Amino acid sequence: MKCPKDGTSLARVDVGAIVIDKCHQCDGIWLDYGELKQLRSSGQQGIEEELEVRYGNPETNEGEVEGYMRCPACEDVGLISHHVSYYKPVKIDQCPSCHGMWLEDRELDALMEDKKEMEEELNSPGVIEFLRRLVRQLR
Ligand SMILES: [Zn+2]
Ligand SMILES: [Zn+2]
Repeated sequence: MKCPKDGTSLARVDVGAIVIDKCHQCDGIWLDYGELKQLRSSGQQGIEEELEVRYGNPETNEGEVEGYMRCPACEDVGLISHHVSYYKPVKIDQCPSCHGMWLEDRELDALMEDKKEMEEELNSPGVIEFLRRLVRQLR
């Protein structure tokens, strides 16, 4: 799979027993359907910090991609950006087709630190509608 932001091939990295896809160029992370739930239930903290120790922290950030990003798994499907705010505002780019999600630098840690019970919603087929409702409520 390729990074939706810069086209770099995503590397398979293991986080405990879970294998996720990470871009070493921009520090983005791709989570397949259900992986956020697995990570959250594993109770691991500071995952991004640990990955930086192992793989380094890129100094350059390419910034926002023009137009919308495409799902690395589905290719022709555009990711939908949601600004969700629990304790911290976090932008999630999610695929409406496979429900995988793209997390930019620090977004995974922000989600992991969030103790609210959002994993069920994030991994349910109704996730897009749920997030839309949430965004509307926050306006
Ligand atoms: Zn990248
Ligand atoms: Zn997809």
